[in-house]
Order: sequence, then C-alpha cells, then structure tokens
Amino acid sequence: NLRCRSAFKLIEIDDRFKILKPGDTVLDCGAAPGSWTQVAVDRTNANGTKEGNKKGAVFSIDLLHFHAVPGATIFGGMDFTTAIAQQRLREALADRQVNCVLSDMAPNATGVRMLDQENIMGLCYSVLRFALAMSAINAHLVVKLWANGDISKLENDLGRFYEHVKRVKPESSRSDSAELFLVARQYKGIDAVKEV
Ligand code: SAM
Repeated sequence: NLRCRSAFKLIEIDDRFKILKPGDTVLDCGAAPGSWTQVAVDRTNANGTKEGNKKGAVFSIDLLHFHAVPGATIFGGMDFTTAIAQQRLREALADRQVNCVLSDMAPNATGVRMLDQENIMGLCYSVLRFALAMSAINAHLVVKLWANGDISKLENDLGRFYEHVKRVKPESSRSDSAELFLVARQYKGIDAVKEV
C-alpha cells in the first residue's frame, strides 16, 4: 500500500546506507503524494507500531496538498524555499534536531536544460542551508539532482559538512534516466567550515 513506486528508491538507499532508524526525526521535502514519507514513518517508527522501539517523527512538505500519512506531520501547499514555510517547519520541529533530511523535490522542467539544472540546484542548496541549521551531529542528507549538469560543486560543498558523500543511482530509478541522488552521511556540524 505504498502510494507510488518512487518509494523503492528510498528503500534502496536506506537498505544500502542505513540512514533511517527508530527514534529518528526526518524532514521529507517534496513529499507528495507521500510514499517516501510512508517509508520514513515505517523505518523511524514515527507511528509507534514497532513495540519496544523508540518513536520517531516525520515532517513532510510539498507545494501540493496530499493525504495524511499516519505518524507524519504534513505541510501541504507550501513552497519549501520560502521563509514562511521554513518558519513553520522550525516551529513544528520545536527543540528537535533533524537526523535525516530527504529531498525528492524537482521543479517543473522548462525544457531548457541549463535553466532546469539551475532550478534543481537552487532547491538542493535551499535544502542544504536548512539542513545545516537544523541537523543533529551525524545526521544524513539525500538530495535529488539531474545527472546531465555539473554536480561537482554541490558534491564538494556537501563534502565540507558531511563525512561521506556518494552519487547514487537506485535500480528502481533506472527508467527515470536523468535523475541521480547525492547521499551525504554523518554531518560534522556547522563549525566544520566557516562559510557556505
Ligand atoms: N518522494 C515523493 C513520493 O515518494 O511520494 C515524490 C516526490 S515528486 C518526484 C517531487 C515533488 O516535489 C512534487 O510533488 C513537487 O510538488 C515537489 N516540489 C517541487 N518544488 C517544490 C518546492 N519548492 N517546495 C515543496 N515541494 C516542491
């Protein structure tokens, strides 16, 4: 009863890198219709169904409105990149630090490759800035990109803040030939570098 096949991309990434565990707090950006959120709720035990395990928390945001996922806090109809959305997320997180930030966000394609690449990069940096401010030490980050652009700058920037950075093309993403994920693990903390 996963809402869409893209769930398998996150399942593959988590099976390989173990970025989600019971008790974790997760932020899922670009979450509609909610299948990554379903996986995150299950693996963090945000719905409390795994007895004897710590209960996690999942916060999910999308431009679109989408149906509730039991165990998750949903922010529908909100642009993640706006100050108002990020303020709402900070309020909801309260004193929780995030253990894993996920972004499967993609802008609408313009058809102009250079513009599309710039737009998705903009989303990635917006996610990174928020993650740097809100993450616990050793937290993880997953962002989606298009493989046809220059991703080495973002990769290097991630490498300043995270111990491990990997380019990942999940098996289940093969049909979506242009997409690629950067998986950054073990956040070193904002003091790791002076400026972004
Ligand atoms: N991971 C989701 C799942 O498994 O159900 C699928 C996500 S879909 C590929 C990408 C989503 O990113 C779209 O629903 C789109 O509305 C959202 N998105 C794009 N730009 C956004 C933004 N600035 N803020 C919030 N969501 C955004």
